Parts: sequence; C-alpha cells; structure tokens
Amino acid sequence: MTTSVQELAALVAGGQVVVLSGAGLSTESGIPDYRGPSGVARRHTPMTFQAFTRDAVARRRYWARSHLGWRLIARAAPNAGHRAVARLQDAGLVDAVITQNVDGLHGAAGSDRVVELHGRLDEVICLDCGNLTSREEMDRRLREANPDFVAQVAEVNPDGDVDLPDEQVAGFRPVDCGICGTGMLKPDVVFFGETVPPQRVERCFALVEQARAVVVLGSSLTVMSGRRFVIRAAKQGIPVAIVNQGPTRGDGYATVRVDAPLGDVLPELAERVTGASAVPV
Ligand SMILES: [Zn+2]
Repeated sequence: MTTSVQELAALVAGGQVVVLSGAGLSTESGIPDYRGPSGVARRHTPMTFQAFTRDAVARRRYWARSHLGWRLIARAAPNAGHRAVARLQDAGLVDAVITQNVDGLHGAAGSDRVVELHGRLDEVICLDCGNLTSREEMDRRLREANPDFVAQVAEVNPDGDVDLPDEQVAGFRPVDCGICGTGMLKPDVVFFGETVPPQRVERCFALVEQARAVVVLGSSLTVMSGRRFVIRAAKQGIPVAIVNQGPTRGDGYATVRVDAPLGDVLPELAERVTGASAVPV
C-alpha cells in the first residue's frame, strides 16, 4: 500500500498525533541508517551490553571508536525533517515524539515532549554509582588520557561507533567514573541485548494510547522496541501512518503509507497542515 502526502496530511491535521521516529529521520543529517535502503551493513557487529560489561578489550574498542565517532555525531545538525516535526508540535498537532534515535536532533530542532526511547549519546552513566556526566566532560577526560591518540575516522554508524584497526585500539586508554573512582562508564543509551527501562516503555504506551493517530517516521520497525507501539496502536483502533523509504515490519498495521524521502515529505506535510512555508532555521 502506498498513499499520498495528502492522505497523511488529512490524518495529521486532526491533531493529537504521536510521532515515532527512527534512524531514517537522521540520515539527511549525515548519520547513516545501517538498516535502511541506502545504508550499508555495518562492518562489525554492534556492541552488546553483555560484551561491553564483561570484556575489557571489547569495552576499550568501543570507547576508542566512540571517542572518534562522537565528534561526527556532535557536529550533526537537525535537518528539514526534524524541523518539520518541531513545526507540527508548535502548531499543536503533535502531542509527543517518541524517538529511537540517540542523537538528540529532535531537541536541537526545537521539539519538546520528546521521549528518547534508547537514551542519549551525549550522556554517560556510571554503571556502579549511577552518576550521569555529559559526553563533553567524558570527551575532555578521554583526550587527557589519550593525548597522542590519532586515527582516521572511516565511517560513523548511528550509535556513534566508527571503524578502527585493532592496533590503534590497543593503545587507547578508557577512563573510569570520576565520582566513585572505579565504576564502569557507558553512554546512557540502550545497547543491543539490553532492555529499555520499563518506566520509559510504560510512558510511551500511555502516550500511544492517548493518541488520535501514530505517525512513524524513518523506521523500518525491525526491532520490537519500536514496533510494539505500532502494534498497540493498531490493537486499540488508533490509525497508524508510516513514512519510510522501503518496506517496514509495521506495514501490515498502517492505514497510511508513504514511501518517499522524509526531507521531501515532512516539509510538504508541515506546509499543508500549518499553512506556512518552510522557514530554514
Ligand atoms: Zn561511579
């Protein structure tokens, strides 16, 4: 099923929309979607929570790559799609945004009422004492601990990971918690093999159940973490629209399906329903 932006606009114009966004929304900000149609399969398997916490070598590799990848993520700016979502929120049509992205770009585009389902890359948590620090501070400490660490960034993946040869990883020195002194530090994002905190999931279910429509933006809904909200909406008789390039695992639940680039569709949608032209930020 493929429907038009006009049908999408008719749904969104009714308001009380909850947006569920995924990696496809951030590709136009230079953060590749490794599951999407333009994304290539990542060269190494994503870090799992189990490997990160149990294997010091894997952890060192993660932080070495992530230390480099963070610079690219930190430089990424919101795109026309993020800005269109913020405009829909300003216009009172979108009640909340649930995002699977960890890049913080919805907030940077001016959206509020954003639930970051998988956490944020710009925060670091101590797995022992629970202290949260900023990624900026972590970056400063890692630079201090690794003054000569120079490596070429080949590619950055959605979790801020980059490809890096083993010999460069070997010389990298990760740092421990600056508060308790010994705690293991981890970006405050949900890794593969880790579950989303139950309270956060419940909050999202509540948002979905209060919605008049759920609009999925740029997610193939491959993982249950996001797909369960679409299933819940469909079970409650709440219409689901999906805007994504390529098929998704939620297509069977959708009443509106637009298969086109988000950077084209979303500004057009915002213009149709708010009656204003796109203003670049
Ligand atoms: Zn600590």
